[in-house]
Amino acid sequence: MISGRTAGLLLASLGAGAAATGYLMSDSAAISAEARKKLYPPSADFPDLRKHNNCMAGALTPGIYATLRDRTTPNNWTLDQCIQTGVDNPGHPFIKTVGMVAGDEESYEVFAEIFDPVIKDRHNGYDPRTMKHPTDLDASKLTSGIFDEKYVLSSRVRTGRSIRGLSLPPACSRAERREVERVVVQALAGLKGDLSGCYYSLTDLTEQEQQRLIDDHFLFDKPVSPLLTCAFMARDWPDARGIWHNNDKTFLIWVNEEDHTRVISMEKGGNMKRVFERFCKGLKQVEHLIQERGWEFMWNERLGYVLTCPSNLGTGLRAGVHVRLPKLSQDARFSKILDNLRLQKRGTGGVDTAAVGDTFDISNNDRLGKSEVELVQMVVDGVNYLIECEKKLEKGQDIKIPSPVTQFRK
Ligand code: ADP
Ligand code: MG
Repeated sequence: MISGRTAGLLLASLGAGAAATGYLMSDSAAISAEARKKLYPPSADFPDLRKHNNCMAGALTPGIYATLRDRTTPNNWTLDQCIQTGVDNPGHPFIKTVGMVAGDEESYEVFAEIFDPVIKDRHNGYDPRTMKHPTDLDASKLTSGIFDEKYVLSSRVRTGRSIRGLSLPPACSRAERREVERVVVQALAGLKGDLSGCYYSLTDLTEQEQQRLIDDHFLFDKPVSPLLTCAFMARDWPDARGIWHNNDKTFLIWVNEEDHTRVISMEKGGNMKRVFERFCKGLKQVEHLIQERGWEFMWNERLGYVLTCPSNLGTGLRAGVHVRLPKLSQDARFSKILDNLRLQKRGTGGVDTAAVGDTFDISNNDRLGKSEVELVQMVVDGVNYLIECEKKLEKGQDIKIPSPVTQFRK
């Protein structure tokens, strides 16, 4: 056992050695990082989370941290790397964030002591140890899926899928990221008919072309959000990132943004039913094409589809509309109504933008424990309710806060 003082001297001498030559510097720095970990107890490393309000900060106790600090996944991913984004971003101005990401499929098991309570908190009480997640991609079950287009400007359904065996975007090497791109782009070339399209690598698109796609809501934003950068997801940008889309730009796949893939169906107007039908059809074909090449998606029966952010586990599905609600959005009850319907509000430029004027991105808040059909139906029913409220307020009538949609919590 080395005493604190001797250890300090040891570290100092390693530091001095590091300054001596370039070769030694990298060698010694690696040793000292390892040595530092062992020298300090987990309690000395525990992050200061006193001003935080993300899910991770609410769940991480000194005890859990002590249990997990020195564990690694088979890809050498650590707890500190998982939680860095939540440590560096105490909160978010518009949504309650999760505050942690997975580096690989195994993260969810190796660090289950923290992921499980975070998942339970984020997904309305879903218990990932005891519950099973359902999948249902039968779009014909959806009812009332066509919105009043006086209010709904566009409809969209997205999910994510990860390629098993390759690290997730926070942790992947350049080679793994390029492998994801290669596997996915080759598979997508097999899409036929109205789903057939082309891949556009970000490195081949001009600044103007990229900006045009972003402004038209087709492409992910540049990785300026600290939620992404603090989760190491902006590394090497724009290497191996890109967008695939069909000719009509109604079926789109993002490659290597926050997830290996994001699969999106969208169109202008209020026909959520058609959007969901295309989503289900396209997604099944993409999975088939990936499997034909000997790959598979990360999935298990408790967590459903495994994605980078715990908020996206399960279906990974976010079904949403851009909807105009000038009167309701000015009403003090708006937030409570959304909460009770398990709906989330974003600005129309994406998660990091404030709402401009009276138009919002309204989508399902939950992704896990309910099937795709159930979640899209919740959005359909919820958005129809919001539109009814808007119409009542236009006529000077009163509106009611609906009773909360109960899910898993008592
Ligand atoms: P995601 O959950 O898919 O990552 P973001 O909030 O990051 O969503 O937004 C990504 C992009 O998708 C943004 O350009 C946003 O404007 C666009 N978008 C999201 N929902 C809709 C919708 N219903 N209609 C049109 N564009 C949308
Ligand atoms: Mg996003």
